Formats: sequence, C-alpha cells, structure tokens
Amino acid sequence: MIKLHDKYFKPFISGKQIDEALQRLADEIAEDVGDEIPVFVGILNGSFMVVSDFVKKYPKPCEVTFIKLASYEGVKSSEDIQRLIGLTQDLTGRTVIVLEDIIDTGNTLNEVYRIFKNEQVKSLKIATLFHKPEAYKKDFKLHYVGIEIPNKFIVGYGLDYDGLGRNLPEVYQIKETQYMTNLVLFGPPGAGKGTQANFLKEKYNLVHISTGDVFRYNIKNETALGMLAKSYMDKGELVPDQVTIDMLEAEVEKNTDAKGFIFDGFPRTHAQADALDKLMDSKDSQINAMIALEVDDEILVERLLSRGKTSGRPDDADESIIRNRIKEYYDKTAILKDYYSAQDKYFGVDGVGSIEDITKRLSGVIDKL
Ligand code: AMP
Repeated sequence: MIKLHDKYFKPFISGKQIDEALQRLADEIAEDVGDEIPVFVGILNGSFMVVSDFVKKYPKPCEVTFIKLASYEGVKSSEDIQRLIGLTQDLTGRTVIVLEDIIDTGNTLNEVYRIFKNEQVKSLKIATLFHKPEAYKKDFKLHYVGIEIPNKFIVGYGLDYDGLGRNLPEVYQIKETQYMTNLVLFGPPGAGKGTQANFLKEKYNLVHISTGDVFRYNIKNETALGMLAKSYMDKGELVPDQVTIDMLEAEVEKNTDAKGFIFDGFPRTHAQADALDKLMDSKDSQINAMIALEVDDEILVERLLSRGKTSGRPDDADESIIRNRIKEYYDKTAILKDYYSAQDKYFGVDGVGSIEDITKRLSGVIDKL
C-alpha cells in the first residue's frame, strides 16, 4: 500500500500485466496497419509511459509525436473549453493512431476528433491502455483497448493524483475503506500485554481483542466454545487453530467501524498469522506492526504467581503450568517473530519498568508507523 497526499492506494495492475497488454496492442495494431508507416500520437501528460513502452514493442517502422490538452488562459476546469497544443506536423494522408493511457468519460476524445477534423488524415484510430466502460459516455469507437477496469480512481504508470504517482512502474487503485492501524501485541504470558493494550486502545482509538479474554468470557458463560477451549487452557495448551481463527474472525466482524485493532494473544501460530493476513487483506487493510514486550522468564513467573493470588485464574496459580505456558510461547511463537521480521514489521520493546515508561516506549513505535 502507498500514500499519495491524503489518500491510500493498493497495488492493482502489475508491470508484467501492463507489459503483456502493450505487447498485444502493438501486435494487433501492426497487423491492421500492414505496410503503412503509422504516426502514433500520445496525449500528454499521462501517456508518456504508455507511448514510450508501446513504441519499443511496435515491430515495424513508425513515427511518434505528442500533443497536449490545455485549458484556455484564465478558464479552468471546464471540459468544453479545451484545446490541443503541439500538433505541428502535417498529417495529411497519414494513418494516425492516438495512444491514450486511459479513457474514462471520453471527454478528451471530443477534442481529439474536433482537432483532427481539419487535418486531412487517411484514418484516425484510438488506442488506449486502460478503459473504464462504466464511466464512458461517448459514442466514439475505441479501436484498441488494452485492459478494461472498473470505475475506480487509479494512479501510476503515467497517471497521477494531484501531480504525484506518475513515476510508479505499476498501477495502484484508490483504497476507499478507511485506513486502519492494526497491531499485534506480543509477549510471553505475564509480560503486561493486557495492561498496555488498555492504554493503547484509548490513546489510538483501537479495538482490543484478546483471544484469551474471549475464551475466558465463553468459559464463564458456559458456551460450547468455552467448554471446548477450557480443556486446553486448563493444561496451558493452545486451543486448536481453526477454533481460534473462527472465533477471532467473528470478533473482528463485530467491529465494522473500527479504526484498527490491537490483537493480543493472536496470532500464536503460523497458520493463525496467515489467516490474519488474509482477513486484513479482505478488509483492504494489513497488519502494520507486531510489537513484542520482552521480559525475562524469572520476572514473568514471579508476576504471574502474584497475579494468580488475586485474579482467580487457575492457569496463573500453578508454577509448572505457568512455566509450561512460557515454554509453549517460545516454542510455538518464535516463528512469528521471523514471520513479521521478514516483512519488516517486528518491533521488540523492553517490557521491564513502570507501566507509564513501557506505554511511552510502545507509543514511540506506533507513532512512527
Ligand atoms: P492468554 O490470556 O493470552 O495467556 O491465553 C490464555 C490461554 O488461552 C492460552 O494458554 C491458550 O490456551 C488460549 N489461547 C489464547 N489465545 C490463543 C490463540 N491465539 N491460539 C490458541 N490458544 C489461545
């Protein structure tokens, strides 16, 4: 995902797909044109990349020129009062093919046809790399179309959003759903995830989902999910992936307006991390960071035993169960550190110190995302 000015864009059409579409157009046009030497006319600014890459693929001799559409002095943004500048070449008797980057409403074509009406060209054809059929309002025939796309704003490959994005080698589509900040808060049992998540959700207006809390809520209410989870939790073992993933997805779906999530205690396995990526992707979003609280084992055992005295959690009362949970955490979740490190999303934070100091350290990471 990229940001241009105030908007976010997601990858839409790859450089390879563009390349293939241009190759098809070049072959098709070359075949139709036969022995003639065509004049390709690019319309600036957007078409500079299309024309450059297209003519390199065109298998036979051709000529290339550019024109530009400009508003008359002092008159801005009226689609009817535009003119083409830069057509200095005599095109009498020539086969002319206008090369456009994109045709959406088709307004530009009005001007193109108006200008060429007075040039005694042999034939005038229109080729465009992208076409938005849903937006097209004209009757002009489009002779060659590379890729049809939905009526959504795109940037890249010559196309801009308020000046930016023309240089991108592939095409991005605007992201219309609101931007979310999604964090995976990580750390061994007793590292203080729950406490910190409470501060962070207020500060950043995020929804906190703790899978452990959801399981405990279900156990308390004696739901079927609770009964199932209890047998694993009491032993300090992980609840099976599919049960946990289904439960998490249901929790996320309950919060359609969320500005983002803090996932606490999830993912704990590679399969869960994959499932989370897919879930975020389906929401046009992503995990922005995995932030791990780092705390020494002996401090953890001490903290959990003292929590067990007041929390009433059976898995906090027994030192061997605690040690098993910590071991389980390191055995099974070390791969997640690798998973998020590989995406440059892993941030380790020292989890020893006062609650405020740790919150500050975490905020330092989040503010830079
Ligand atoms: P926690 O409160 O995060 O320490 O979780 C308590 C217990 O809930 C764990 O020991 C597991 O039995 C279960 N649990 C919580 N989250 C998950 C998860 N993502 N995958 C599997 N089991 C989980």
